[in-house]
Amino acid sequence: MTYLVNGLYIIAFGMFIYGLMGLTGPKTAVRGNLIAAVGMFIAVVATLISVRHTSNWILIIAGLVVGIALGVPPAKFTKMTAMPQLVAAFNGVGGGTVALIAWSEFINSQGFSHFDEEPTVHIVVGSLFAAIIGSISFWGSLIAFGKLQEILPGRPIGLGKLQQPLNLLLLIGAVAAAVVIGIGATNDGVSQLWMIAVLVLAGVLGLAVVLPIGGADMPVVISLLNALTGLSAAAAGLALNNTAMIVAGMIVGASGTILTNLMAKAMNRSIPAIVAGGFGGGGTAPGAGGDGEAKQAKATSAADAAIQMAYANQVIVVPGYGMAVAQAQHAVKEMAALLEAKGVEVKYAIHPVAGRMPGHMNVLLAEAEVSYDALKEMDDINGEFSRTDVALVIGANDVTNPAAREDASSPIYGMPVLNVDQAKSVIVLKRSMNSGFAGIDNPLFYADHTSMLFGDAKKSVGAVTEELKAL
Ligand code: NDP
Repeated sequence: MTYLVNGLYIIAFGMFIYGLMGLTGPKTAVRGNLIAAVGMFIAVVATLISVRHTSNWILIIAGLVVGIALGVPPAKFTKMTAMPQLVAAFNGVGGGTVALIAWSEFINSQGFSHFDEEPTVHIVVGSLFAAIIGSISFWGSLIAFGKLQEILPGRPIGLGKLQQPLNLLLLIGAVAAAVVIGIGATNDGVSQLWMIAVLVLAGVLGLAVVLPIGGADMPVVISLLNALTGLSAAAAGLALNNTAMIVAGMIVGASGTILTNLMAKAMNRSIPAIVAGGFGGGGTAPGAGGDGEAKQAKATSAADAAIQMAYANQVIVVPGYGMAVAQAQHAVKEMAALLEAKGVEVKYAIHPVAGRMPGHMNVLLAEAEVSYDALKEMDDINGEFSRTDVALVIGANDVTNPAAREDASSPIYGMPVLNVDQAKSVIVLKRSMNSGFAGIDNPLFYADHTSMLFGDAKKSVGAVTEELKAL
């Protein structure tokens, strides 16, 4: 039986890694995801075979039924725009599970002191590490979920200068309580209390770290929490001697760490600076110019926008979260085809954090079968804006904000943005003058060479398309 279980585990790990490779491109991503899911199914079957002599089958089946009932509907029916919240919630559940596993292992072993044999170091350290990181990840993810779902305000909420010392104290407290248990310095009656102290202190630390982080940094935070959950699962796997948990946990931990680094780099932020908090809140009032005078944005019509683009040599489409909300990608493709038929070169400028999840714009445009060659990454296209006649911004806001480049007092100062303001003219499609995710004003909208085409992006693009057909 051991051979069968190990053989199944090896097949499952191969499928995780092969599936992950598929996630490197939109064309293979769905298949990659499916392969990894089948791998996880095999790993679960292997684990069930390995515990076949248990008397807990009713509990195990109940857990599987509840998990499937709670997991499948949100995964199937959540809108693409709400994916980051879903990832935060699922990630939190993972972290919470790991913390509970660590706690139950602790209870089973009655404070690690009543094992038949003395528990090995890797069981004790693995469980305590899993308890701390799992608890941080659970509570931190709940806050991230609340901020993305707008149940909690997106602005930083914290204690200012006292925040860092408090976080440090909480971390020292959690680790100290873990050490007390680890070295067996307590008797059984009190060691339960120490374990609860570990979980509570780590949980408060999770809250205290994520609450002061502003909305604009949430993508990086979710990715970081995801990496932490992976590491805590691997630690729990060590304690339980479960190879599947170790391997799957390390894959999540390693890939999550790489993604966190890439996203932080794309936003020109360091991970310690993000964890220190305070980015992406506040901002200036809409319409306020830098010199204190209220500026007015210029409105345009679909007919004028169509004429402007039809006579351009090159148009750069800049998609953002609003394109996802409006589901305007197919309409955009149709409009671009008409422009191309008129001899206009159309390119798409893709900001790494446009939308609400990494690769969001690539996924939408791939779905509309826009050619990959036309999709340009930020670094490749930024030099081209100054040579471009029209930049057409479709529901993008923060990723086009020149204040990030020019205004040292802006909360998003330092985040790389698309140089849309350098185009000869800019047309912005959005419904109002409302701010984007970071909650700050965008001077691009008040620039002399910018005009606003107000309305839902899909309707506006459709209207421009009709005008183009008539030209
Ligand atoms: P923003 O959130 O900055 O702006 C989106 C704009 O779309 C809004 O100003 C809104 O204006 C407009 N909009 C919304 N619905 C519609 C609609 N139906 N039709 C037309 N316009 C619409 O989006 P960006 O893509 O520019 O920037 C992404 C932001 O999200 C960044 O701050 C990033 O840090 C953050 N983020 C990114 C994640 C990622 O991984 N990509 C994850 C989580 C957050 P109006 O209401 O006036 O229409």
